[in-house]
Amino acid sequence: MKPPPFEYVAAHSLEEALDALATHGWDAKLLAGGQSLIPVLNFRLASPAVLIDLNPVRELAFVEANGVLRIGAMTRQRTLERHEHIARYAPLITAAMPFVAHPQIRTRGTIGGSLAHCDPAAELPAVCLALDATLVARSHRGERTIPARDFFFGLFMTALEPDEILTEIRIPPMTPDTRYAFREVARRHGDFALAGVALTLRLDAEGRIQSPRVALFGVHDAAVLAESAMRLLDGATPSEELLREAAHAVANDIEPSSDVHASAEYRTHLAQVLTARALHDALAQTTE
Ligand code: FAD
Repeated sequence: MKPPPFEYVAAHSLEEALDALATHGWDAKLLAGGQSLIPVLNFRLASPAVLIDLNPVRELAFVEANGVLRIGAMTRQRTLERHEHIARYAPLITAAMPFVAHPQIRTRGTIGGSLAHCDPAAELPAVCLALDATLVARSHRGERTIPARDFFFGLFMTALEPDEILTEIRIPPMTPDTRYAFREVARRHGDFALAGVALTLRLDAEGRIQSPRVALFGVHDAAVLAESAMRLLDGATPSEELLREAAHAVANDIEPSSDVHASAEYRTHLAQVLTARALHDALAQTTE
């Protein structure tokens, strides 16, 4: 299928992109890697009058580590997968990236596009929740920072306003004692997941769990923190019973839907099993 006709605007700087967005507003869509937007246009699920291409905007593609890990919104997913700063300061991202689609798609797809698109089964929103990321949005009205937990509203809905561009993702570097795990189940490798989990936690000197962040995807209308499980885990001493209870509790925080791929009951079951396995993975990890 072909997309409906649209006017094409190539932005060569963030300022140019913001100008174009301010001019065209609701009639415009930003084009990043195009790996979700172009299929949406081809299926005629959206028909924006104008596409504003962010690909020439070089200032939005960067990875910097200087106290905080900063990732430009136009950074390709394949760059995330291979970048040494990411592997060092946010290895949860490195672990998750091979599960995002296929290498050809990751070569074009961007982190900003994935987060702004907000597919409930996408990996990167959950990873950002588990890493306690902050998202930076710019418009002609100024810049604002949005904690990841306030960014993902629901099915393809985020906290971004129509005149805002997601410019950057800021991630507090994972300390050497942070444990992490990533698990998902998909029908075929590279497909969107039926259910998945990304989590981080630390153990204190007495071996108690500290600052657990358990994020689930594919099982709610957007990626979601499993607050019930996190409350059970925080400050507790790991045991088989605790992990079983925490995994069981994730059912309180999700509302999976049924579709041709899986029933809601099966998705809940997967979320619980994957959470238990990811907790085991993280606790078995060796840290510095
Ligand atoms: P685009 O498609 O260009 O844009 C997506 C949306 O975000 C558009 O509405 C656009 O206007 C908006 N947008 C983009 N950038 C910004 C910005 N900086 N600020 C504000 N709004 C912006 N993804 C997964 O997570 N897991 C998968 O398993 C997976 N499998 C896939 C399989 C196939 C066959 C395909 C085609 C795609 C798959 N994807 C998957 C999607 C892929 O990861 C996309 O790259 C990603 O969802 C969108 O990123 P993009 O850069 O291509 O954004």
